[in-house]
Amino acid sequence: MTQFRALRGPALSFRGDPFIDPPSEALVHDSDAILLMEEGRIAAFGPAEALLRRLPPGVPLETFPSGMMMPGFIDSHVHFAQLGITGACGHGLLEWLEHFTFPEERKFADEAYAQRVARLFLDELARQGTTTAAVYGTVHAASVDALFSEAQTAGLRIIAGKTMMDRNAPEGLLDTAQSSYDECRALIERWHGKGRLGYAVTPRFVATSTPEQMEVARVLREEFPGCWLQSHLSETTAEVNWVRQLFPRCIDYVDVLETHGLLGPRAIYGHGIHLTHRERMRLASTDSAIAHCPTSNLFLGSGLFDLASAKSIAGGIRVGLATDVGAGTSLSMLRTMGAAYEVARLRGANLAPAQALWLATGGGAQSLGLDMTIGNLRRGMDADIVVVDTSPVAWLDWRCRQARDAHDWLGALMTAADDRVVHAVYAAGKRVK
Ligand SMILES: [Zn+2]
Repeated sequence: MTQFRALRGPALSFRGDPFIDPPSEALVHDSDAILLMEEGRIAAFGPAEALLRRLPPGVPLETFPSGMMMPGFIDSHVHFAQLGITGACGHGLLEWLEHFTFPEERKFADEAYAQRVARLFLDELARQGTTTAAVYGTVHAASVDALFSEAQTAGLRIIAGKTMMDRNAPEGLLDTAQSSYDECRALIERWHGKGRLGYAVTPRFVATSTPEQMEVARVLREEFPGCWLQSHLSETTAEVNWVRQLFPRCIDYVDVLETHGLLGPRAIYGHGIHLTHRERMRLASTDSAIAHCPTSNLFLGSGLFDLASAKSIAGGIRVGLATDVGAGTSLSMLRTMGAAYEVARLRGANLAPAQALWLATGGGAQSLGLDMTIGNLRRGMDADIVVVDTSPVAWLDWRCRQARDAHDWLGALMTAADDRVVHAVYAAGKRVK
């Protein structure tokens, strides 16, 4: 028998992309909506007035009169193995990797440790309303086994891969081109497409992979076209200079990726801060995506991502929003939306609250090539839903009640809210908070 469940309350959804259409038209605020879930999917969504009469008889109905339903958040770039070095202060990217990241990632050779951290990580994602995440493991295949096996019970959509590094990393964190091929292949066969799990081929960045290993990444994508590719790109100027020295024959950083066949749909690159016009053009025209990680960029002092240029160039680059924990400072996508706004302001630009929410939902889905499946409240999509309720935070509740409209409400929320307002979370129709 089909299992129906329905949610009722105010809701925010999108009828368009607020980077293309005016945000006031793209964002839809229903003051009283119904969302019908069936077998993990959204079976119907719309104004309660119209839908109430059409609900199947006896369907369980949960109401959130003081809440706001919205699509589940999508974190398009995060390192679960760096949870333990969040807030490790004192360095920029390359030194931070050496002083904090590599020693911590070494611990993930121990599967029990990896499992413990994976559980903490997935619990926190659900608590923050994140229903999909693109996650980096460590170089150890066991770290990804631990994450996927925990994610199976958590019900979240997790795209992940083992980090590939065959140079410029310390002993104990290195693989080889051949071993990375064998391990990735085995992980793909074990996990990719199992429930909500998907595999991402994950070379850390071009400075830690030899051309032979990049060739392995290209071949894996060719052999398994349903998989993703995730890596880092142009995060700091020191890194950009290093990459220039390592690949003197390439025009620029993006050319290194293109030369090695690593651009295209379902390729998601973290950061992309110090890009040239040419590089942005190549990313846009190949449908490659950028994961914008504002809290991480502020914490490490990496730079200010030029979102306006990324979105305005030749049809626009696909951009998702990401926490990039542990360089990122919080797994909260609401706080990350607020940071994206602040970074835009520091660049002398603007970011409408509807655009910030889009980056955390529909834009993230686009960056992962999953915009028919997640990122909005629409019939046929996965029932990934966050219900926000500001009433546990008295002053914020008061502020939000004075909001001029849904945009003002959303602006206050992303600027000042924390996880206390994340009231209920559904992942594929299952309540996970
Ligand atoms: Zn990262």
